[in-house]
Amino acid sequence: MATSNYSKELDIALLAVQRATLLTKSVFHSHAKGTLNKSDASPVTIGDFGAQALIISALQHNFPEDEIVAEEEAKDLRENTQLRDTVWKLVKDTVLPHEQSQSALGGPLPSADRMLDIIDKGDSKGGAKGRIWAIDPIDGTKGFLRGGQYAVCLALMVDGDVKVGVLGCPNLPVSDSEPLSENIGADATDEEGKGVLFSAVQGQGAHSRPMSTGKLAEGQSIHMSPLSNVSDATFCESVEAAHSSQGDAANIAKKLGITKPSVRMDSQAKYGSIARGAGDLYLRLPVRADYVEKIWDHAAGDLIVREAGGEVTDAEGNRLDFSHGRTLLKNKGVIAAPKSVHGKVIEVVKEVLGSKSKV
Ligand code: AMP
Ligand code: MG
Repeated sequence: MATSNYSKELDIALLAVQRATLLTKSVFHSHAKGTLNKSDASPVTIGDFGAQALIISALQHNFPEDEIVAEEEAKDLRENTQLRDTVWKLVKDTVLPHEQSQSALGGPLPSADRMLDIIDKGDSKGGAKGRIWAIDPIDGTKGFLRGGQYAVCLALMVDGDVKVGVLGCPNLPVSDSEPLSENIGADATDEEGKGVLFSAVQGQGAHSRPMSTGKLAEGQSIHMSPLSNVSDATFCESVEAAHSSQGDAANIAKKLGITKPSVRMDSQAKYGSIARGAGDLYLRLPVRADYVEKIWDHAAGDLIVREAGGEVTDAEGNRLDFSHGRTLLKNKGVIAAPKSVHGKVIEVVKEVLGSKSKV
């Protein structure tokens, strides 16, 4: 079989994420911030369904044989016609105003009923064989609601290996050199350089580009910062204490000699931010032993960081394994860092988590 450079997959994934991100932005303006909406559905629900429908429709048009693992199913929409109509109106109205790009995605969806079927196509069980896309239509729902960081996430896995990853981060600055802070991007506007697409293809490096509303903007390559001394690191973690143990992270940082406070940020925007060197480490430390991470929360970010020169593993130092269905069954936690310091970070992670389990 001929080897693929995945250029079509990358272009379609970038355009699909860009279009879906436009939908999430219009949901934020009309349903989260505004007073327009009378339905009691949450903006997260509306945005999740709408973005998932747009992405799956684009994938099915271009790659009809591929399987899809997505977070949502259409059951709630089938039972609630008001919600269905709200989502359908947004899906219908979200069009890339660039004919060639819009038609590359297969144009508009045909009807509200087809939209429900399309949403339900994200029900693949995942696994170690074949081409499988993973979608998180709105990752970082709390960030989305507060106008902070969230991401529209899409990745292609082939035989359990991530080949293409795209993250749409509408509230991050375009500039790769803006240092990471908790309210990064908060003062910027769409006109003044807000909104970035991160992407990577296995073996071809990682890129960032400004999010546009039509044709894709030009990309540039991104790299982890060349950190030689781990004590200089800026590390990021979840805003939600239930998603990652902030106490363990603080202990690990202290043992590594890190003095800067953590940057707390929702979503896979954390992966994109360290991949472009705006921060250095991403620590995600299990809070509950029984939680298994979902593949759509990590697939795109994992590849983007690794292609930018980083290392991504679980808390034991093992690579994330996307071949076990819809979850990362074999992994606990995530540690992403520049290659130069990853080994040292894992050593300390094991020390801190190990000493806890002995208590
Ligand atoms: P973040 O924005 O990095 O905190 O991650 C958001 C993701 O955390 C969501 O998409 C959820 O799928 C996931 N999540 C939910 N519960 C947990 C948990 N107990 N531990 C880790 N991640 C979780
Ligand atoms: Mg998520």
